[in-house]
Amino acid sequence: MKYLFDDWDKIAGTLRSSAKILLLLDYDGTTVPIQRAPERARLDEETRRLLHELSGAPEVTLGIISGRSINDISSMVGLDELIYAGNHGLEILLPGRPMKKLYSEEDLHLIFNVRKELKGQLDDITGAIIEEKGPIIALHYRTAPPGTGDVLLEAADNLVSKNPGLAVRQGKMVIEITPDRDFNKGVTVKWLLENLFPAERPVVVFAGDDVSDEDAFAVLGQDDVSIYVGPQPSHFSARYYIKDSMETRQFLFKLHNLLISP
Ligand SMILES: [Mg+2]
Repeated sequence: MKYLFDDWDKIAGTLRSSAKILLLLDYDGTTVPIQRAPERARLDEETRRLLHELSGAPEVTLGIISGRSINDISSMVGLDELIYAGNHGLEILLPGRPMKKLYSEEDLHLIFNVRKELKGQLDDITGAIIEEKGPIIALHYRTAPPGTGDVLLEAADNLVSKNPGLAVRQGKMVIEITPDRDFNKGVTVKWLLENLFPAERPVVVFAGDDVSDEDAFAVLGQDDVSIYVGPQPSHFSARYYIKDSMETRQFLFKLHNLLISP
């Protein structure tokens, strides 16, 4: 894994000579710093301006892929012209189109029933926060005492083993109960490539900071630009790393200079 800015000239060369670029960014921890209260993870105006202008460049298609629900992520970013994939790609929103759902009404019923059961069980667990994201229930423990994650994981595993059709996933300080469907950020990247670029494959640029982003890194090819966001290189299969969301903004700024105002 190389530090992205050390290899910038090479990356710039690749991007400058690409007819189409699919630029996909995770949100929390990638485009904005992670906050203890997720509603405080607001996008700064400078980054919003860069995203808006980059999405207007003829060669760029820009999307945000997040674990948040579509409603949540699209209102946090606030730009109608972008693509949004919410709930790790269970929901996809293309500009001006109805939302595409990769889950069924039956999935929603299953999730609804489990949520009721879970609420009773979690009343006693201090600091755990249940977030209802439509087809996914998230159990957050960022603000809970140490050990809470294990308790939540056990509760989630128990419920899911009693309810076929559901699955458990883990992220940064969060456990999620989801429909047992084939979805992740890698599946979303492939879906976008097949549906938006049937004729000519674009160069894909993907940046993310969490285990769910690894699924996207894993489907990218030699000519794509995969970027892990974290303080140092990691075991993730991204080709490059940058240190934090400040450097994501710096990357967007350099991209803007390269493609829009050289
Ligand atoms: Mg993230």
